[in-house]
Amino acid sequence: MEFLQPVSLAEALAAKAASPEAVPIAGGTDVMVELNFARRRPEVLLDLNRVPELTGWTMQDGKLRVGAGVTYAELTGERFAAGAVGVAAVAGAGSLGGRLPGLAMAARTVGSPQIRNRGTIGGNLGSASPAGDCHPSLLAAGAEIEVASTAGRRMIPIEEFFRGVKRSSLAAEELIVAVWISPPSGPEQFAKIGTRNAMVIAVAAFGLALHPGRRAIGTGIGSAAPTPVRAADAETFLAGALDEGGLWESRAALPPAVVTEFGALVRAAANPIDDVRGTAAYRLHALAVLARRTLTWAWAEYQRGGSVAAAGEG
Ligand SMILES: Cc1cc2nc3c(=O)[nH]c(=O)nc-3n(C[C@H](O)[C@H](O)[C@H](O)COP(=O)(O)OP(=O)(O)OC[C@H]3O[C@@H](n4cnc5c(N)ncnc54)[C@H](O)[C@@H]3O)c2cc1C
Repeated sequence: MEFLQPVSLAEALAAKAASPEAVPIAGGTDVMVELNFARRRPEVLLDLNRVPELTGWTMQDGKLRVGAGVTYAELTGERFAAGAVGVAAVAGAGSLGGRLPGLAMAARTVGSPQIRNRGTIGGNLGSASPAGDCHPSLLAAGAEIEVASTAGRRMIPIEEFFRGVKRSSLAAEELIVAVWISPPSGPEQFAKIGTRNAMVIAVAAFGLALHPGRRAIGTGIGSAAPTPVRAADAETFLAGALDEGGLWESRAALPPAVVTEFGALVRAAANPIDDVRGTAAYRLHALAVLARRTLTWAWAEYQRGGSVAAAGEG
């Protein structure tokens, strides 16, 4: 197996152009499992860990640009240091967690400290699993994915990124470079159901974002359709109900019927299967519950005036 280690994005893109079949490896938490179980035997591995352009995050043009190589630990603000008595989480300075609360909540549910230390947002997108935990929050936030090849860069709206089970619209010669997200103007939530509390692939997951800045709702469903999907009818319904009731301004209690209907419409947007982790019927039930819960939590935060950034999205 050939192992390529570019030290710049230009070098990485040139290598991908020369060998489009090369398999990129970032944290390796998906790739190494596939290699270990002999599900994949790539002739070329393209290590992205020395490419500085994929690391870190910045504010650009009023948006957060999160490098593809940003890890879950960076998203949550945790850093994990191996100590003599085990693994200690230490608060990370300048973390993204407070700026992207929905994504940080999702990141906190991923794997274990070891996986969160290595696993990246770009790798989650690269695997394009319907169960990837970043995806519901990225859908709810209306993120865009910056991808590049030697031919140039393009932006892919997140809802056009997923093309099928573990398939994305990334071309063979392209790499994921960054994720662009407008700073949220309202509360965000993420909830996931698994068969236990940690180290678990979601049986169903749901991301919600209230966008008071543009009086809109964002949603994302995970593990309940061939790809992560939005619940577009639920978004339209809730935004309409909030407008009609003057609720964005009054911040009054949500009518229970609105919460129930929102849950029903989220459920209707899913298209799950029976598998070893759960039945389709259970997933549908769970999604309606997750949707109602996350809406209740997010609205309570909105009523308290929480996390409404002055510089919200347009
Ligand atoms: C024990 C364990 C627990 C886990 N728990 C969870 C969980 O709770 N939730 C969850 O969502 N996932 C979980 N995962 C899966 C995995 O950790 C995540 O999908 C993670 O985000 C993968 O990131 P990575 O950097 O390790 O990707 P890698 O394994 O390096 O790569 C993953 C895929 O993305 C491609 N890729 C990576 N970077 C790029 C790039 N810049 N451009 C183009 N393609 C790229 C690779 O070629 C590969 O196809 C778990 C995995 C393990 C082993």
